[in-house]
Amino acid sequence: MYDAIIIGSGPGGYAAAIRLGQRQKKVALIEKDKIGGECLNYGCIPSKALIELANSINYLREMPGVSLNYSIDMKKWQEWKWSMINRLTGGVETLCKGYGVDVIRGEAYIVDATHVKIGEKVIEGKNLVIATGSKPVRIKGIDDVMYNREVLDLDHIPESTAIIGGGYIGVEIGTALAKLGSKVTIIEMMPSILPGTDQELVRHVERRLSQLGVRVMTGKKVLNTQHGDKIRVNMEGGEYVEAEKVLMTVGRVPNTEGFGLENLKLEMDGRFIKTDAHKRTSVPNVYAIGDVSGQPMLAHKAYYDADIAADNICGMDSVVEYRAMPYVIYSDPEIAYTGSKSAKSTRFPVAANGRSLTMNESIGTFNIYYDEKGIVTGAGLAAPHASELISELSLAVESGLMAMDIGLTIHPHPTVSEGVKETAEEAYGKPLHF
Ligand code: FAD
Repeated sequence: MYDAIIIGSGPGGYAAAIRLGQRQKKVALIEKDKIGGECLNYGCIPSKALIELANSINYLREMPGVSLNYSIDMKKWQEWKWSMINRLTGGVETLCKGYGVDVIRGEAYIVDATHVKIGEKVIEGKNLVIATGSKPVRIKGIDDVMYNREVLDLDHIPESTAIIGGGYIGVEIGTALAKLGSKVTIIEMMPSILPGTDQELVRHVERRLSQLGVRVMTGKKVLNTQHGDKIRVNMEGGEYVEAEKVLMTVGRVPNTEGFGLENLKLEMDGRFIKTDAHKRTSVPNVYAIGDVSGQPMLAHKAYYDADIAADNICGMDSVVEYRAMPYVIYSDPEIAYTGSKSAKSTRFPVAANGRSLTMNESIGTFNIYYDEKGIVTGAGLAAPHASELISELSLAVESGLMAMDIGLTIHPHPTVSEGVKETAEEAYGKPLHF
């Protein structure tokens, strides 16, 4: 009898397994594909590797005085990428086993709230954790297109790429492909790319995309694709785009079908499994974490959910609090935000930050939001390394720090983080460099 059976070994599932193993619980972790889930194998990690490659090349290409003559052997690069991923996922599996977790390969089928079948084998557990993740939305009539897995496994850079969907995945990969020489068109149905993200931050990304020669078409509904020498993407109103490859990134849906979930008769929240703040479903010994349990569908949210579920399986009383959740888009410039906006705000331009200028970066802004007492409620950054900088601001929101706490803290020079300090200074005085 296991203390917990976990289905899915993405950031949610493997983190829950390790956390429970660290506390001497007997755990089974079931995975039908690769350890590490979508994030490590086909999402966060390979997409960031591609972005790093593209940024490195583009940095030199845009640097005055540098002339660049290069070629990329994508097959060799893919070999490197997979060896890097295997190193990471191998480490995760070793860690799991080191903590006594039984890692079981195969497709899990839920028999009831305490029994799970893998092939012919049935195992029993006191608790069940569903961490089956998500998959891309597919639309009938839009065929033979790439999804995240295919685009991240390309063996050459397409001469041209049309991207259906201007959300974060489309923008991140589209920017990288453009920097690597593909002629990229992003087609978005909403009036702007990155819908749902603060437009004040998004406009910096739009500016950069235009500099990089990316065509952005907004307010356009794609009807279907047609295949000839190139793939033709037909839109409402008779407009079309032709490209060698088409990437479809119009959203993701939770994996809730085909593995006996219906046998539990869980309450749902739309397509997601409904959970309470303890990450418990409507059946008390069944937990759901990560993408399958609701927005935001992010790896660090899955890690966080895993901690909460593991605590509760161990008899603690832990609840989720997503208030200081960081959101990051690895666009150019990177966008990162956390917390919430409030009436008072302060801004500092990237162009006034010395370290950014050394990187030939001058587009973007640092925004901090604070209340009438000066307490930081949120922040929004469009800046180099915004993905790294946002943690300081999430900590501020989480801890109820004042803008003055950030402004009075010595930040190393020259760093982009000085931009955060200078933004905070303006909440009670004046920044030094603006
Ligand atoms: P997943 O990682 O999807 O893992 C679920 C696992 O469950 C899979 O391995 C699957 O095979 C397994 N499984 C499903 N059903 C069964 C079954 N019946 N039996 C056995 N195993 C099963 N998030 C970020 O925070 N930062 C990023 O930079 C980022 N970049 C991304 C880039 C791309 C291109 C994509 C697609 C996603 C990105 N994400 C990013 C999102 C991130 O990948 C997900 O939020 C994260 O993987 C969710 O983790 P999870 O554990 O819920 O599920």
